[in-house]
Amino acid sequence: MRDVAASCLAEYASRGPRYTSYPPATEFGPLALDQVQDELTGIGERSEPFSLYLHVPFCRSLCWYCGCNVIATRDTDRGVAYLEQLTTEMAMLASYVRRAPVTEIAIGGGSPNFLEPHSLRAMIAAIDHSFAVAPDARRSIELDPRSTASAQIDVLAAGRFRSLSMGVQDFSEAVQEAIHRHQSKLQTQWLVDRARAAGFDDINVDVVYGLPLQTEASFRRTLDAVIALDPDRIALFGYAHLPSKLPHQRLVERAGRVLDRYERATLLVLAIDELTAAGYLHLGLDHFAKPDSRLARAAAERRMVRTFQGYAEHRADAVLGVGMSAISSTPRMHWQNHAELAPWQRDVADRILPVERGKRLDADDQVRRAIIGLLMCNGEVELGRVAADHGIDAVSYFAREIAEIAGLDALATYDAGDRAIRTTPLGRLLVRNVCMVFDRYQRTAGGLPGMAGAVQPTQFSSTI
Ligand code: SF4
Repeated sequence: MRDVAASCLAEYASRGPRYTSYPPATEFGPLALDQVQDELTGIGERSEPFSLYLHVPFCRSLCWYCGCNVIATRDTDRGVAYLEQLTTEMAMLASYVRRAPVTEIAIGGGSPNFLEPHSLRAMIAAIDHSFAVAPDARRSIELDPRSTASAQIDVLAAGRFRSLSMGVQDFSEAVQEAIHRHQSKLQTQWLVDRARAAGFDDINVDVVYGLPLQTEASFRRTLDAVIALDPDRIALFGYAHLPSKLPHQRLVERAGRVLDRYERATLLVLAIDELTAAGYLHLGLDHFAKPDSRLARAAAERRMVRTFQGYAEHRADAVLGVGMSAISSTPRMHWQNHAELAPWQRDVADRILPVERGKRLDADDQVRRAIIGLLMCNGEVELGRVAADHGIDAVSYFAREIAEIAGLDALATYDAGDRAIRTTPLGRLLVRNVCMVFDRYQRTAGGLPGMAGAVQPTQFSSTI
């Protein structure tokens, strides 16, 4: 991405939602349980396909940069007890959705490989027993290369899991020390080779830029090592340093300062250059994929969607989450389970859906969600077409937004002919800023459009 200068990128960067959902999870609030029950019952009655997400919150140790909802423990018995409760929650969910088809299963965390092989096997059996899983359902899991055992890979392969995502973040020993995550290239290579040999055909590696002690030279070495692993996909995330929300992240600051936006932008542009030169296609905001990978094919066919896990192929309009802190999303509603273990356990034990908060989408939310989703996935949106699908006139309904896009001409343009918004090469990297124009909650919060002088909402990460 030589045509995008790092300095220019840094100048436009601000803070904003990652738009893994719209409205963002920061807008979730109290939600009556009967609304969730009605939504689930409707899915069952209409036999609406859905993706199933299971959250396993445990990790053997805490990485100091971590932004996930994690419980650090080495007591594997906790995994056994958790699985029992997870099975109960799945049975509860199944009583509503009945035989609606599951077209995708994703297990994330935390570290799902915290579960011993027999527990993983039991979890897969419980999924298949509880739900009508489609024969061609895609099955994916996150694994930690530092602690995955051969027997776990065998269990997953036998359970027809074929997609795998693993963290690398950075291979520099100094950076690993700073973030309290020691992971060798050998461990990582072992997991890639072992999974490939077991039949996994879709392997993703996560890399993070913006961490303390990262330099251009060290980050280039990390990228070279990641490319040498030959993954099908690479997710390149900017480190979200939010210590006021995640106090353990203060530990990251011990080793050195977190990179500023100019340094972040330099590493981002470097990574885009390196990864695209190695043959990866740059998809969406931060994903890279081999041209023949499943995700690249989905992107080419405009079937890529933005999910709570990042980008994925579209397999269903609804995602139902199971487990502590898991988020569910349907075309009409988002909701999240209790973020703490104890209330989640209590509700499951009482056979109550363990929902903590959520958001019912009104008509305005639904049209803005569609626009933001298309911008995040395709970098462009035919506003007229989306608006017509929702029974409104784009030009009058979005008059203010269209005018604001005109003021962001370095990032996006509006074509009055086909009533389309298209991001520029720079705007593609700052697509979150473009999306913020359509985010009515950012407008209310005064964080629009994330340009210099605007209020910078501190609950969000940097847009680069
Ligand atoms: S392994 Fe992943 S989920 Fe677990 S603490 Fe580290 S970053 Fe967080």
